[in-house]
Parts: sequence; structure tokens; C-alpha cells
Amino acid sequence: APPDTPDMVHRKTICQFCSVGCSMWAEVENGVWVGQEPAFESPINQGTHCAKGAAMREIAIGERRLKYPMKKEGGEWVRISWDQAISEISEKLLDIRETYGPDSAYWLGSAKYSNEAAYLFRKFAAFWGTNNVDHQARICHSTTVAGVANTFGYGAMTNTFNDIRRSKSILIIGGNPAEAHPVSMLHVLNGKENGAPLIVVDPRFTRTAAHSDEYVRIRPGSDMGFIWGLVREIFENGWEDREYLAQRVFGIEEILPEVEKWTPEEVERVCGIAPDQTRRVARTLAENRPGTLVWCMGLTQHTIGSSMTRAASILQLVLGNVGKVGGGTNIFRGHDNVQGATDLGVVCDSLPAYYGLEEGAWRHWGRVWGTDYDYLLSRFTSKELMERSGMPLSRYMDGILEDPESLDQPHPVKAMTFWGHAANSITRGPDQIRALDTVDLLCVVDPHPTQVAIMTQKQDNVYLLPAGTTAEMHGSVTNSSRSVQWRDKVIEPLFEAKTDYEITYLLAKALGFADEMFKTIEVVDNVPVAESILREINRGTWTIGYTGQSPERLKRHMEHQDKFDSITLRGQIAPVEGEYYCLPWPSWGRPEDSHPGTPLLYDQSRPVAEGGLPFRARWGVEHEGATLLAEDSYTVGSEIKDGYPEITLGMIHALGWAEDLTARERLMIIAVGADRFRLELFDISEEEAQRAVDDLEASLLRNSGDGDSEDIEGSWMTGGESGSNESNSEPLGQRFPDYPEN
Ligand code: SF4
Repeated sequence: APPDTPDMVHRKTICQFCSVGCSMWAEVENGVWVGQEPAFESPINQGTHCAKGAAMREIAIGERRLKYPMKKEGGEWVRISWDQAISEISEKLLDIRETYGPDSAYWLGSAKYSNEAAYLFRKFAAFWGTNNVDHQARICHSTTVAGVANTFGYGAMTNTFNDIRRSKSILIIGGNPAEAHPVSMLHVLNGKENGAPLIVVDPRFTRTAAHSDEYVRIRPGSDMGFIWGLVREIFENGWEDREYLAQRVFGIEEILPEVEKWTPEEVERVCGIAPDQTRRVARTLAENRPGTLVWCMGLTQHTIGSSMTRAASILQLVLGNVGKVGGGTNIFRGHDNVQGATDLGVVCDSLPAYYGLEEGAWRHWGRVWGTDYDYLLSRFTSKELMERSGMPLSRYMDGILEDPESLDQPHPVKAMTFWGHAANSITRGPDQIRALDTVDLLCVVDPHPTQVAIMTQKQDNVYLLPAGTTAEMHGSVTNSSRSVQWRDKVIEPLFEAKTDYEITYLLAKALGFADEMFKTIEVVDNVPVAESILREINRGTWTIGYTGQSPERLKRHMEHQDKFDSITLRGQIAPVEGEYYCLPWPSWGRPEDSHPGTPLLYDQSRPVAEGGLPFRARWGVEHEGATLLAEDSYTVGSEIKDGYPEITLGMIHALGWAEDLTARERLMIIAVGADRFRLELFDISEEEAQRAVDDLEASLLRNSGDGDSEDIEGSWMTGGESGSNESNSEPLGQRFPDYPEN
């Protein structure tokens, strides 16, 4: 850290603009943020930042900040106090709830939250009694999550940014990192310098394409045809990784009829790519393995986005590239915490950590929250509503404008809150404006007056609440490569702004459920403590592995990044000790454990039964006509719900963590029982699996009767019948020899 003086202190913060997660030092002189420097010791940005990151300070302290709460009355904006704002908003919300039910409020959250604010926001919606909660990920990478999770298990980037420099080839489809994620290009160009051919597929010749060895100009929307063309070419020439496919991949034979028709000539007809180029790219990928496949929203924002991301994942399986250093599917997210906000449940179809919405999920989180399941149930009007997905972000306008019954939505949306969800909200033009003009209550919570607040023609009952930026609060943030980093508060909230934590607390208090909601979280002077929220996250997120990232550990890691030698790392191929200071999830274990995080998902150097994982290539969707010329003929995502419950994600990976054979067998059985396609790989009959799952569920229910949440989690991880976590006393990290211990 740069040396502090009596007047000048330095605070380490994380850039708030994109998902690369660059860290920087903020210089604070007598409480005023006067300058910033990129952190040289950061393994991610290594002393660099881009033009957006360089504007961090200016955005936070800029003139356009919203300075105090405001209200629109008779078409005029007037300044009001926080007390008045909270009291009027909560009164109106309670009236609306009384008349129309809890689902008549829609809570639109943000990928700009800290992890703790995201988690608190989802918890708030649960205590209010609705699943009408969502954020930007719905319209950017939700198709990636569907496609990738359905193939591998987790809907996330498989490797790290740094790892790209070890790739033997780099294929970028539908992404322009040179402009959208500039610092990630550092790693891409390192990879190129190390000899990896860089292939860029894009309809536009972008700045990224300008660095490529091979630029593939593609007809917009026809990516699927090109990907299948590559897969076909690879099989045609016998370049597929047969051993890998036989050992790890289930259902690959179902792909062959899909790809059969995508000859180089057909690819040319549909995608506009010359046959020689398709052949050349396939050969380059086959001859340079393991290679990475990077994509961004050019591949996701299509009506067949889930299918495209599945096809891309399958291409990597065919090449044997997943679960290997330098390989993987590396998906660059948008906002700085789009990964964390999704992980921690700012979505309409799940509670935090992808537990889903079924009764077991509510019981799990009820235990973590120290509250009764029946209390939570009472906040919804019925069990059915409690377990039903809320409206996605893409449909909230329909929830306002259309007959609720036609939408399978029980209540009309009468109150809209945009909390940290800025410009992107107004993307459907007149429809959207019209919808917002008709709600009974419109609240915008943001550091800046947003498009929503400015464009609405609504004359009354519009509120603008000034939120602090992420630089004005402590908290953690998860970058695109799953690395969780601690972000120090740089300055106190400016003007009359309040942190997301405080606003959530004040609203919960005025709405009458703060006592119940904050039973397990420390609150000081109306401000929930970020560290305390993170500890609660640690207690509940076993499915995804945020359990080992305590606030203390995260802070230590940020402090000790200076052990990382960024100069010697540049250009080197070998792993460098200390590279993974950012604790990518899954990081299992009790918060005080030393599990180093998982920079490489599905590590193929480990056997299947120890978390190396099998993959699913099975193709249940009809993709005929992948030209996008007849969009209606596409059936997207119908396979996603087919036998793929959330439990699989964490449990299958947890196989490698169970200490004793019994536990391992149990976890294996849960995994295969929950996801029948894996039975074949484990040579277990469906009946056997079902019996074991029934036994295990009965045992979990028994344990859940009188133990606290940690006991239950202990029993999940160890298979202990009594729910004792005694056998969990050894830190899990010490049983995991493959990565350097930090
Ligand atoms: Fe910020 Fe992204 Fe630029 Fe890094 S690359 S400085 S995280 S905008």
C-alpha cells in the first residue's frame, strides 16, 4: 500500500464499471477523495486501468449526483427530508399491499450492488413477500447461465482472466473486450505474445478484431451455424478428443445429427463465411489446445441465446478444452457485480445461491435468517406464490399494462422501485414510459437522477432517493471470473446520500419487518454492518461456495496482494504463487478455513468422483433453421428444467470435499439422483439412486428439526446422521492439495 500520512490516507477499492474487477488505490486527503492510482499488485489489472476506470473518482464525486430526497408533486420536483420520504413511501406501499397483495410491488435491483447489498435486497423482497425482483443480468447473460449451467453445472466463467495468457488458442465470438473490458485485453494479448493465435468472430471489424490473427466476419445472428460448422469439421477430420469425450461427456452422440448439415458450404450460405475460413479456424483450434473460448453479449442477446451458448460450450467439450488450464468457456460479464448479484439472488426465480424457490429452499434460508418458515409463508398470500417465479425484468411492463391473469401474474404491478438500475431500464420506449406513468407509486433509488426519473410523465407519487455509490460503503464484489474481492469504503456518503444498506433497513423498519429481517445481522445506527451481512452469506451459500470467504479473509487477501509479483508474471506461462489472491468461488469451508478458492472449475486433473465432473452434451432442443430467419421456429430452453434441480450444482462439486467414503457415496447419490443423466456414468440404477435420495432427505429433515443451520450444513457436507459438524472440524482447504495455499 502507498504510505499514509496524517493528512493523506489510501483506500483500496474495486472499479465499479465492468466485470474485470480491477483494483485501485484511492487517495483521500482530509476526508476528500483527491486522486486514484491503479494497483500494481493486483493479479487482475497489474498496475493498469482503462479510461472508464480512470473516471471512478469523477463519477463518484461528480456534479450530477443526486443530493437529497425529492418528490414529484403536481408535476414539480420538490426537496423533502429522508423521514418524509421513507414514511410516505412505506405508507403507500402498505396501502397497495393491502388492496392488491404483495406481488403488486416490483423491486428492480442492480448489478452495481455490493454482494452484501444484493443479498440484503433479495432478503428484503422475501420478507416483503414477493419474488418480483430482478436485475440487469436478465437481459444480458441469463442465456449464458442457462446454456452453460445446463452443460457443465455452474453458469459462470470456468477459468480466470489471468489464465488466458496460458491458452494455446483464443477464440472470441460476439465480444469486443478491447473496448468493453479493456484490461482483459492485457491477458488476451499476453496469450497472443505467448504464441496463441487470436481468432475474432464478429459482424463488425472491432478494435479487438484489429488485434486478431484471423478475423471472421459473420452475418449477424448466425453464430450457431458457424459453431456447428466448426464442430462438424472437427469430427469430420477426427480431431475430436475421443478419450475426453468417452470419459467425461454424456450424450455427445446426440449432437452429431444436429451438426451434420453444417458443411462449410452451408455455413457459407447462412453465415457468409468462406468454406476455407471455416476449415482453417477448425484446424487452428484443433492444433492449438487447450484453447479458450471467450464470448460476450454478441452471443447471448438472441432469441436462441441459450442454445448458442450451449453450442459454444459443446464446441469446447469436443476439443477437450474444459477443466484445463488455458481452456474453458470464459464469459465476460457486463457490470462490475453482475456475477455476485446473480449468485446472491437478485433474480425472480431463486433465493440466494441458486437454491430455487421450493419449500426446501425457503426452509434453508429461513434457518439461516433465524426465522420461521411459517412467518415467511405468511408474508406471501399463498404457498403457491411463494414458490412461483416472479416476473422477469423483461416483462414488468406487461405486469403493469396487461390483464394480470393473462400473464399468470396474480396481482397487477402497482408500485415500481428502480434501485441502482439506471439507463438500461428505458429500452422499450413508449410502452415502458406508458407503463411507468400508470403505476400508483414510482421510486428511484440511485446516486444519480436516472432516465426513469427524468422521462416519466407521471405527475405525482414519484420519489427520488439519493443512494451512495459503491465507493461510499464497505462490501465485497465478485468479478466475471468468480473472484470475490473486498472493496473498502473510500469516503462517507456525499450530500444527503445514504448507503443501500441503510435505505434497506429504514424501509424494512417502516414497513414493519426490520426486527424479523435483521435478527441475524448487526445494525449500528440504522446501518446494517457489511461484514455481518457477509458472515450470513457465508453461513448459507453451500450450493455455490461463498462459505469460505469471510470478511476477514477477503481483507487479508486484498492487503497481501503485494506478494504478487506482477512484473515477473507478465508473459510467464507457469502458475505463480499468490496469483489467486482473489478467492474465486467455490471456496468451501467454514469462514475461518483456508480454502484457496477455485480458479479452475471442473479441473480435469482430478477424477470424476473428486469433483472433476462429467459434462452433459445431450441436446434436447430442436434447432432447425439456425439462421435466425424464422425465429418462431426455435424452441429455446425447454431442456433446462428437465431433471436439473439446483441441488446438483453444489452437490456434484462437493463430491471431492466429502471426507469419508460414506459421505462421498451419499453426495454422489444425491447428485445422480437429482440429475438422472449422470446415473450411467456412476453405474448406479435409478431405483438405487432414488432410495438413497429418499433416505438422505429423511435424514436431512430429521436433522433440520432441532439443529441450527450450521449443523444441517455440516450434515450435508459430511453425511453425518446426527447433524454433528464434529467431523467438519478440519479446515477443508487443508484437504485440497492442488492449489497453492495463500
Ligand atoms: Fe474498470 Fe473494467 Fe476498465 Fe478495469 S477494465 S478499469 S474494471 S472498466
